[in-house]
Amino acid sequence: MNPSKKRVAILGGGITGLSAAHFLKTRATLPMEIALLEKEPILGGQISTLHHDDFLIEEGPESFVRYKKGGLELCEALGLQNELIVPHPKNRSTFILKNGKLVHFPRGVMNPFSQSIFSLISTFLFTPLLSSKGKLRLALEPWIPPRNSGSDETIEAFANRRLGAEFCQNLLLPLLSGVYGPEAGSLSVRALLKEYASAEQTSGSIFRALRKKQSTEKTPLHSTKSIETSVFISLHGGLAKLVQALQDSLTECHIVVNTRVRSIEKNSSGYGIFTQAGEKLMEADALLMATPAYMTASLVRPIDPELAHRLDSIPYGSGLVFTFGFYDNQVKRPLRGTGFLVPKKEKLPFHACTWSSSKWTDRAPKGKVLIRTYVSISEQFTDFEQLRNSVLDALRHILKISGEPILSETHPHFRSLPQYPLNYEDTLASIRQSLTKHRGLFLAGAAYGGVGIPDCILSADNAGGELLAYLEKGFVPGGEKKFH
Ligand SMILES: Cc1cc2nc3c(=O)[nH]c(=O)nc-3n(C[C@H](O)[C@H](O)[C@H](O)COP(=O)(O)OP(=O)(O)OC[C@H]3O[C@@H](n4cnc5c(N)ncnc54)[C@H](O)[C@@H]3O)c2cc1C
Repeated sequence: MNPSKKRVAILGGGITGLSAAHFLKTRATLPMEIALLEKEPILGGQISTLHHDDFLIEEGPESFVRYKKGGLELCEALGLQNELIVPHPKNRSTFILKNGKLVHFPRGVMNPFSQSIFSLISTFLFTPLLSSKGKLRLALEPWIPPRNSGSDETIEAFANRRLGAEFCQNLLLPLLSGVYGPEAGSLSVRALLKEYASAEQTSGSIFRALRKKQSTEKTPLHSTKSIETSVFISLHGGLAKLVQALQDSLTECHIVVNTRVRSIEKNSSGYGIFTQAGEKLMEADALLMATPAYMTASLVRPIDPELAHRLDSIPYGSGLVFTFGFYDNQVKRPLRGTGFLVPKKEKLPFHACTWSSSKWTDRAPKGKVLIRTYVSISEQFTDFEQLRNSVLDALRHILKISGEPILSETHPHFRSLPQYPLNYEDTLASIRQSLTKHRGLFLAGAAYGGVGIPDCILSADNAGGELLAYLEKGFVPGGEKKFH
């Protein structure tokens, strides 16, 4: 490395680390050398696309939400605008299992703020998932007094209190469980349903906040452009295209794969970075850690045990993706939609099922279908075969599938998804406080404010911006924002 240039090390080559490298490279005004260090042989972290017998299989994430800033903008900046795909408008319905039967799931439960209030009212009014009593309870939301306590609340307690038990159990929790697993209700409302929680604080009611937002909204909510009407976006050829485009944009960065960073050492000018064998990889003026929080904790422990302890207190969930391929004539139930959610009370071995080949046109060859299920598992889980068989049996029953799958893939993701427990925001504030002691150290990724791909990109963007401000102007955020 050239000693006259500022040296930046980025740990972790998932979407966060790659995006951070991209933002640094495109915005730096000083000469800078950037090294990205990744322990696996390939980049992408949780994002991995496989091609098997003309099927396109996403091992981890398969799309990202459009309404969150970050994802779409990065794809466009990388020249991927012509690769963006959305589900066909005729196949955008989602279903939910109710007493063993698939029922339409209303749009706008997760993010009512991206919907028109009139379409929300009509979908909730006509959904069979709420009884008349449940609908009446939901309609009373504007009259439920806001909670005055400044403390956090679980999602379940918040939703029961404001929207009623039926809305909570029949709509909200099944949706969140499809992402966070069956204990989603015990997670922090402030961290995971920020807009819901802040609507109560600012307007006293979610419906009132919605009405206010829409009367001041400048851009129309209804667009005729297919991409603007879809909640989900993916890329033709899979999300690995985003990883590849990022990698291609980083020609001047040193990308080092197959290299696990074992320890870091703080010194007067920055950070020394070492491999498993104790070999010094580099000296960096600034270090951006885009590794999972527990890994970051183990690396910072020798320089700040308290920070390590705080990072370690962010729990991680594990999940398993089973993907099955069939001839379309093996599946008797029409797969017209994106898939279905499974509430806890249905007692099935999985939480969500995506009809990948209906949702995206490029996932299965003609005459074949691709179905994916998501199961939350424990860290110690090993009995993949038995679980696979029971998931398959349940799918056979619900979707009227005959015969054996022509493709079957099992992709475990251990400690892959940070969970945001009650008072998570206090944990973040204390991590932020600890970081003020370490000039030139920045953290980004799914552990710090949002687990979705756009959240990770935004986190990388913000941390990269602060890192540049530090190197170029000597700006140290001093307790303000030190990670994202
Ligand atoms: C099954 C599953 C499905 C998902 N579906 C969606 C979805 O549909 N839409 C969506 O928006 N989000 C989804 N997510 C969430 C999203 O994919 C992740 O939050 C995001 O990809 C995390 O990116 P990251 O770069 O922060 O972390 P990671 O992808 O975990 O990357 C961290 C990287 O750091 C590397 N690393 C770790 N330790 C070291 C070390 N010591 N030295 C060097 N390198 C190291 C790892 O190998 C890894 O490559 C899903 C997640 C999972 C697990």
